[in-house]
Amino acid sequence: MIAPGETIGILGGGQLGRMMAFAAARLGYRVHIFAPEADSIAAEVCSRFTCADYTDEAALKAFAADCAVITYEFENVPVAPLAAVGDTPLLPHPRALETAQDRLNEKRFVSELGGRPAPFMAVDGADDLARAVAEIGAPGILKTRRDGYDGKGQWRIKSEADLAGLDLPPQALIYEGFVTFFGEFSVILARAADGSVKFWDSAENVHVNGILDTSTVPAGPAILAQVPEARALAQKVAEALDYVGVLTLEFFATVDGPVFNEMAPRVHNSGHWTIEGAITSQFENHIRAVCGLPLGLTTLAVPGARMVNLIGDDAHDWAEILADPANHLHLYGKAAARPGRKMGHVTRLMLG
Ligand code: AMP
Repeated sequence: MIAPGETIGILGGGQLGRMMAFAAARLGYRVHIFAPEADSIAAEVCSRFTCADYTDEAALKAFAADCAVITYEFENVPVAPLAAVGDTPLLPHPRALETAQDRLNEKRFVSELGGRPAPFMAVDGADDLARAVAEIGAPGILKTRRDGYDGKGQWRIKSEADLAGLDLPPQALIYEGFVTFFGEFSVILARAADGSVKFWDSAENVHVNGILDTSTVPAGPAILAQVPEARALAQKVAEALDYVGVLTLEFFATVDGPVFNEMAPRVHNSGHWTIEGAITSQFENHIRAVCGLPLGLTTLAVPGARMVNLIGDDAHDWAEILADPANHLHLYGKAAARPGRKMGHVTRLMLG
């Protein structure tokens, strides 16, 4: 067990690290951020910061020497250099990173555990893509296997005719059939070091342009009916990875049941409502899990909650948002409000 007062290392310097750091500080831990960007919004609220590339093994070694445990808030941290952390525990185990960093591996892994993703095929060139579209059909989505997020690295293919003018990016790709869904939801769980698992209520998620727009709990009845099957899969994934920490799986709710979309080996945007809306937030339970502490209750603290992301210029409306005293405003402290950039979020509780 890592006792309060010790230092937790976090790989990644964004808003998820910042909110994890708030939770850690509340429990009396110190936080050391490791991130390549000098203007890290997580480092801004922590006592220690190593600004170095994720492949800088000497910097990783020195960072590890200062930390009692290391975790991550960014799933694209390169795995091989992490060996430099030596004996300092790294949780969740990097095998979760390896699985989630590659959409093809992720879908194969989840399929082997009984999950149902959209039909998919690896694409390493124009011939592969033509074969995949012929076999799976169109419409579909071509995605980069690695490094995609918030709808980046994705191309919609409406019909075979779209293939003619397509300039394929020089990366390993995957083609997925387009899923007809009536809703999207996520399963977020925390697994403690002793293997016990707790789930938060599943939020109903709405994406706009590939970016999460709103998360609402409780989800509607048609989605709620699919949650037990989705939870069973998420638990199998956590157990297969001997996972410690918070894990997220995203699903499409379809007339044939839940279709697996993707997993994130970390706290998730669709769980930000848990800060005010659940007895224990996803951030606090992640810290508790990686420190070997018992998990807090994940049940709703109120009848319901709704989180709205503030994307780009939305964040400029902060005064208007604060004018409504029922809003919980979270701004991440990012300097520039670029289009598509997550600048903050607002949570509203339903108080019955
Ligand atoms: P992703 O980054 O893969 O989660 O994609 C972002 C969003 O794009 C998803 O939450 C969906 O709204 C949409 N999307 C991605 N893949 C598919 C698919 N195969 N079928 C339908 N919609 C999709």
